[in-house]
Amino acid sequence: MSFSHELHLARAEERGDWARVKRVGVFGGSFDPVHRGHWNAASLAQAAFDLERIVFVPAASPPHKPGRSLAGGPDRAHMLALAITSRPDWSISTMELERPGLSYTIDTLRELPGRLGLARDVQLFLILGNDNLRGFERWKDVHEILERASPIVVLRDAKNSSALEKIRTALAPGAVARLERGLLANAPLAIDATSLRAALARGEAPAGMDPKVAAYARAKNLYVAPPQVGRTATDPASGA
Ligand code: ATP
Repeated sequence: MSFSHELHLARAEERGDWARVKRVGVFGGSFDPVHRGHWNAASLAQAAFDLERIVFVPAASPPHKPGRSLAGGPDRAHMLALAITSRPDWSISTMELERPGLSYTIDTLRELPGRLGLARDVQLFLILGNDNLRGFERWKDVHEILERASPIVVLRDAKNSSALEKIRTALAPGAVARLERGLLANAPLAIDATSLRAALARGEAPAGMDPKVAAYARAKNLYVAPPQVGRTATDPASGA
């Protein structure tokens, strides 16, 4: 995979100074595109758990979004790089984009320490929005995920409770306790990528994202509206 200049600078794999770092946040997602909700979640998690570094991991093919077509991995990673240029403690790993098949979090947590050269006593933290609690008990090797990384769950919509109830009955008590220790009680920031893609498709410059990211998405026509078919001004069904 070839990397843009910005992505080259932001890649975790290029840093080579990971051996002394003790507390690392891992933040996976589709980032299609990255927005201020992601930025806010990363900042809140970092402050609450004293993280030295955060690694953003854009997914090639998220298992919980089957059939969803995403902007290309290099474009999503490039937009992430544009969004985090002011943060030397934040970086991007392209490991999931390079891995074939579905992007499972457990594979990333197994591979990341060796790939970056992390110390044996590093503590990993997995940053999640609380929408990810729905069905979390079915994530591949979920108990091992919770052993390898302490979860940090950022509120993005009002309620955790029904998803947490399911998790409580499905997971071992120790795993549930780890999850509960990571729940943040932040004020949610109602920004989502789906609405931003729709706004970009309408030609708007949405406030919920970095203008550099919006400009890149526009220049590359990443989220253009699908062509209107089957309706014309003379089509009787159009009411004209
Ligand atoms: P889409 O609308 O395309 O599904 P998304 O922004 O909801 O996009 P991802 O890009 O996959 O989804 O999100 C990556 C991670 O960031 C997930 O853990 C998600 O829960 C979290 N996240 C996304 N938006 C917010 C937000 N506004 N506040 C807190 N966490 C968020």
